[in-house]
Amino acid sequence: MSGRVHALFLLAIGLLRVLLRRLFAFGPRGLPAFQQHYLSDGLSPVNSPQRQLLLEGGGCTACGRCDEGESARIQEAGGAYTGVMSIVLGASRNMPDYGVTARALDFVPDAVLVDKEQNCPVRVPIVALAALLRDKAADARGGSPVTVSPQSQPPPARG
Ligand code: SF4
Repeated sequence: MSGRVHALFLLAIGLLRVLLRRLFAFGPRGLPAFQQHYLSDGLSPVNSPQRQLLLEGGGCTACGRCDEGESARIQEAGGAYTGVMSIVLGASRNMPDYGVTARALDFVPDAVLVDKEQNCPVRVPIVALAALLRDKAADARGGSPVTVSPQSQPPPARG
């Protein structure tokens, strides 16, 4: 029983702290607070279309098909580019490393990405993901607050 009382006491203290913090907190809140806390970690906010794009990127099954024919470029890159699949997986699952993943895009022409997208068995929007990756990596490098206006939308998703 004393354990339950102790737990209730801790919960009450926690609730009180949250309420007091909300009442007297100064400084940015909401999106500006998010940017202040997480932008330096490479996390920037996404708008609805970007969120949808990331979800579609999550459909990548890591089948490796988009890495077919990439060995020459992979070899040339000396470790900076390990194939299109890594770019897709990095773009859809690992925003804090967007900077490194975006550098890999320097080794693969955009026309090749278009071709890879057309041959992807689950039609992952590789080209739009690459664009998002570049944009977000640039945001993180600049370290400035990121807008999430509809103007920064990626190309519309295919139906
Ligand atoms: S992007 Fe498509 S082709 Fe490439 S690994 Fe993912 S599912 Fe396979």
